[in-house]
Amino acid sequence: MPELPEVETVCLALSKITNNSRVRNIELFRKDLRWNIKENLEKDLIQKILKKPFRRGKYILVPTSNEQILLIHLGMSGTIKIISKKYNLSKHDHVKIDIETKDNKNFSVIYNDPRRFGYIDLFDISKIENHFLLKKLGVEPLNNDFTVHYLQKKIYKKSKCVKNFLMDQCIIAGIGNIYACEILHRAKINPLRSVNSLNKEHLKSIIKATKFILKKSINVGGTSIRNHLQPDGNLGYFVQKLQVYGKNKQNCNRCKNLISVINISKRSTYFCSYCQI
Ligand SMILES: [Zn+2]
Repeated sequence: MPELPEVETVCLALSKITNNSRVRNIELFRKDLRWNIKENLEKDLIQKILKKPFRRGKYILVPTSNEQILLIHLGMSGTIKIISKKYNLSKHDHVKIDIETKDNKNFSVIYNDPRRFGYIDLFDISKIENHFLLKKLGVEPLNNDFTVHYLQKKIYKKSKCVKNFLMDQCIIAGIGNIYACEILHRAKINPLRSVNSLNKEHLKSIIKATKFILKKSINVGGTSIRNHLQPDGNLGYFVQKLQVYGKNKQNCNRCKNLISVINISKRSTYFCSYCQI
């Protein structure tokens, strides 16, 4: 499942072609994604200018010239392909948006999603704070307001385990299963540990590890685990850089103990039972 670094990578790739480009054509091959795509999406988007996209949590947001936002969510298995040549549709391509850049180059942005847990929406920019997918999102982990003080408020009197806490989009936006495992390994904290047992030093380590891991993965273009492709069609290469996720029975790179895998809320959770305490 694409997490913050993958979505950021897609956003960066899109920003190279959508910046002041005009939408020339839209084709919807399936409207029944996680929710149905709105009936008026084609009509409202055609001939509009797309501006520079940005990311909020795991959502890609592309502002348009008529004060709207095109929202793209990759869900569990969604990918974006950016094609500059003639393209034959492949299985699970659900949406194709043809755009013309300000220097008259033509691209197709294709949304492919085998499991259809993703979504595409178009709404007025004035409603961004109240959009049902965006309004409850927590802090952006790469922003300056992701602080010990913020986490202290959120863990107050809570007994949930730290891994579920990190993956709660209402607390921190953009972290999923893979990066939660990586962050806790780097911060040397056991994923099962209850958040109300964490002191200030633990929270500092979590923040430091989160920023380090996310920035590092954005730099290498995001992980390609599972179905996520980079927008240019190449697989990402962060997969070799993971330290603990998917490494069951391999040696921990820090203490050489064997990595364990357990289930937490039905998600495979990899950790080192020796150095993560
Ligand atoms: Zn270890």
